[in-house]
Amino acid sequence: MRPGAPILRFAPSPNGRVHLGHAYSALLNAELAQRMGGLCRLRIEDIDPIRSKPELVEAIVTDLAWLGLTYPEPVRHQSRHLDSYRATLQCLINRGLAYPCFCSRGQIRARAAASSENTHDPDGAPLYPGTCRGLDPASRSEGLARGEPHTWRLDMEAALRCAVEPLVYDAFDGADMRRVAADPARWGDAVIARRDVPTSYHLSVVRDDAEQGITHIVRGRDLEAATDLHVLLQRLLGLPTPRYHHHALILDPDGDKLAKSRGSQSLADLRQAGVTPEEIRARLGFA
Ligand code: GLU
Repeated sequence: MRPGAPILRFAPSPNGRVHLGHAYSALLNAELAQRMGGLCRLRIEDIDPIRSKPELVEAIVTDLAWLGLTYPEPVRHQSRHLDSYRATLQCLINRGLAYPCFCSRGQIRARAAASSENTHDPDGAPLYPGTCRGLDPASRSEGLARGEPHTWRLDMEAALRCAVEPLVYDAFDGADMRRVAADPARWGDAVIARRDVPTSYHLSVVRDDAEQGITHIVRGRDLEAATDLHVLLQRLLGLPTPRYHHHALILDPDGDKLAKSRGSQSLADLRQAGVTPEEIRARLGFA
């Protein structure tokens, strides 16, 4: 590969078998990498200690290989980089940009329902009302010392004050490039580290894309709004902002997003039913 060539990535979460939606994203990443003279890396997004299963990681690699997709080493497994995420989180805490939140989900829902604004984040979750942002330092330290379960949230206002402008990214669609203004404020004080691990999807993805030298991110439109938050985190952490393409989602016949939990067929099911990789490629619009 020539120096400076594009680097893409396919980043599945091992909490179910590969379905047609994943296959489309993986094939599109591979095709665009090839067309641009670059390569596509594989990243296993396995920070969820309950839902991520080692046998599913193996199955993902097998299903992708069956489709004809193999990836250069090293494959990055997020669960092996928790120290790096912890350090990234600590850097935000040290700068006063993140605070511990001791609220349960139920408390947040109840407070949001009682509030006259009743606003939601782009994923449809109630916007965090900021309860723990104003906790005095003593209560905060006590909660932490007692080992009370807590997440870490980004202090959105402080982050926006601190982030180096401009909060924009370049979106590409074929040869067309357009500049998009990111609006991270719509996420409110987003969770950047969960209760059970010192990170969240948002924090890990930003750290990993930088560590893996990713220049172009190709992923589904369901993650388009998350890009706004990722751009903010990149600015705060002094990381480069890749170019983004958010592709249309493959929907099931009812118009819903494909998900194993809703019984969408996996590649393994299709393979067992005698469908060939060529047929799958053709069905998804790849030659
Ligand atoms: N792991 C995410 C998923 O399986 C994709 C994350 C990304 O591409 O940024 O939906």
